[in-house]
Amino acid sequence: MRVVRSIKVMQVLSKKLAAEGKRIGVVPTMGFLHDGHLSLIKRAAKYSDVVITTIFVNPAQFAPNEDLDKYPRDERGDIKKIKEAGGEIIFIPRTGDMYADDFQTYITVEEIAKTLEGRSRPTHFRGVTTVVAKLFNIVRPDVAVFGLKDYQQAIVIKRMVCDLDYPIKIIIAPTVREKDGLAMSSRNKYFSTSQRKDAICLYKALRLAKNMNKKNGVTNIAKLQKAMIKEIKSICLTANVEYIAFTDFETLQPVKKIKKNCICSLAVKMYGVRLIDNMRIS
Ligand code: AMP
Repeated sequence: MRVVRSIKVMQVLSKKLAAEGKRIGVVPTMGFLHDGHLSLIKRAAKYSDVVITTIFVNPAQFAPNEDLDKYPRDERGDIKKIKEAGGEIIFIPRTGDMYADDFQTYITVEEIAKTLEGRSRPTHFRGVTTVVAKLFNIVRPDVAVFGLKDYQQAIVIKRMVCDLDYPIKIIIAPTVREKDGLAMSSRNKYFSTSQRKDAICLYKALRLAKNMNKKNGVTNIAKLQKAMIKEIKSICLTANVEYIAFTDFETLQPVKKIKKNCICSLAVKMYGVRLIDNMRIS
């Protein structure tokens, strides 16, 4: 296993691997890895000969009021976990190398980056697509794996790859959850034990909507949203539900009522932590 920090060295190494006929898989992460991240590394290994895991807490995707400075980090632990998961190469670029003082080029996906997360975090996806484009240019992967946990991010990246003609296969891997259903996230660390218990409310609300549709045939969006908010508030009265959206899985267009290929996404701020989750409804 090899840790690479230099952009130049990573580029030379990727070129060498490609020349040897190796298929390169990449898993971009911000570190502080959990089993969700590791599942992406294992999935990438199925589609490639060499998996490059990147660790980079990307300042460009955090707004000034967000948690960039306190974002959890554990480089040594991450390296150990990647090794155990079978990852061959870890790329950990330096912030100053990724964004030089005179940096001024950004990638913006337009419409689909403006809804849902984009409404609450207007500069977020510009930062994500810019860093992912840079990582793609450095690593030159054949395959890249992203998590369904950040569903809109995966769809925005798919759009960018299609629009900019990157010859890269994008794979969206399922969300890995804790035993009680909470989606694994580096940000779960911010909760105290009792707050952590309440964080289950997102999953519970999603399950409720899925069951209302599946068992009782409810297709009315307003009715589902109302029931979900009630469920969340019954677990955490102070939770702030930022949005609950029902959209087409491929296009991200809002649906008027539940139909085939529909996904429900939500963002909830509770105890100062902003959580997102989603579930295919039909
Ligand atoms: P992050 O380090 O949070 O930027 O996430 C890096 C990658 O891991 C993204 O593609 C995420 O969607 C994915 N990811 C995060 N949490 C999970 C999870 N619980 N299950 C599966 N993938 C995840």
